[in-house]
Amino acid sequence: MPSGRFAPSPTGRLHLGNLRTALVAWLFARHDEASFMLRFEDLDMASVRAEHYRTQADDLRRLGLDWDGDMVRQSDRRALYDDAIGRLQRAGLTYRCYCSRREIQEATRAPNGPSVEGGYPGTCRALTDGDRAEREAQGRRSSLRVRGSDEPIEFVDLRCGPVAGVVDDVVIQRFDGTPAYNLAVIVDDVAQGIELVVRADDLLDSTPRQLHLARLLDLTPPAYAHVPLVLGPTGARLAKRDGAVTLADRLALGESPAEVLSFLAGSLGLAEEREPVSVETLRNRFDPTRLPTAALIVDPETLDLRRHRS
Ligand code: GLU
Repeated sequence: MPSGRFAPSPTGRLHLGNLRTALVAWLFARHDEASFMLRFEDLDMASVRAEHYRTQADDLRRLGLDWDGDMVRQSDRRALYDDAIGRLQRAGLTYRCYCSRREIQEATRAPNGPSVEGGYPGTCRALTDGDRAEREAQGRRSSLRVRGSDEPIEFVDLRCGPVAGVVDDVVIQRFDGTPAYNLAVIVDDVAQGIELVVRADDLLDSTPRQLHLARLLDLTPPAYAHVPLVLGPTGARLAKRDGAVTLADRLALGESPAEVLSFLAGSLGLAEEREPVSVETLRNRFDPTRLPTAALIVDPETLDLRRHRS
């Protein structure tokens, strides 16, 4: 009974892609009667409009998705991440990095750049105390990195199969002192007892980093299932610019939450076109081995969830 979670960033209303991922994550947990949690990943956001927590939670409820316990906000859990960062520092696994994004891009374009594609070239790995003092005196800000792994990190994704990723030196704390995504997410997944992380497959590449951090922190990581994204008409990840993409947009067009749920279920092979379904029905039908393997392409301009079957 692997417990699961949905971990949105509260940047605005949930769109069809977020909702589809939430539905799949919920189905993985609930078809097994396992627990399911809602966690807001709001750490790296300069300012979160307070209503986004509530409206995102409302969107999930409207589709019939529920969760156990209180909604969790990462911004309330800083002590947990700071503790993990401290442990890595005390173990001598970290170093301060003064490189700007531009410097890293330039260094990686150099002919003898790093072997990890787009990875950090290790510029600050061997700085002396003097080098650091010089940079601090220049007022340069630093992030904190953990040394990457020499060996590729391998795992078996429940949907994608075997994955191996080379991990470069991972940022665990950003320039402004905020714990970085990869650090916070693995600390939380383990602290919350999450056994199966279900999320969109654009995060597949981040998973080896999270597993690397888990190993260094001596944490037992969850299992993973990365599910296909929903793409807009141009083939890029579905976004606001594509039109009526959020649940709120669809409701404003006169569609009902049930119609949106039916559409999402249909896209997962769990319902006939326009078939009225409840999450309870879907939970009984759900078969994790029969998930679609390709991304779903949606054109919000032509999508009409009220249209009757011809
Ligand atoms: N917060 C991420 C997002 O909204 C998801 C991260 C995760 O599930 O690990 O895309």
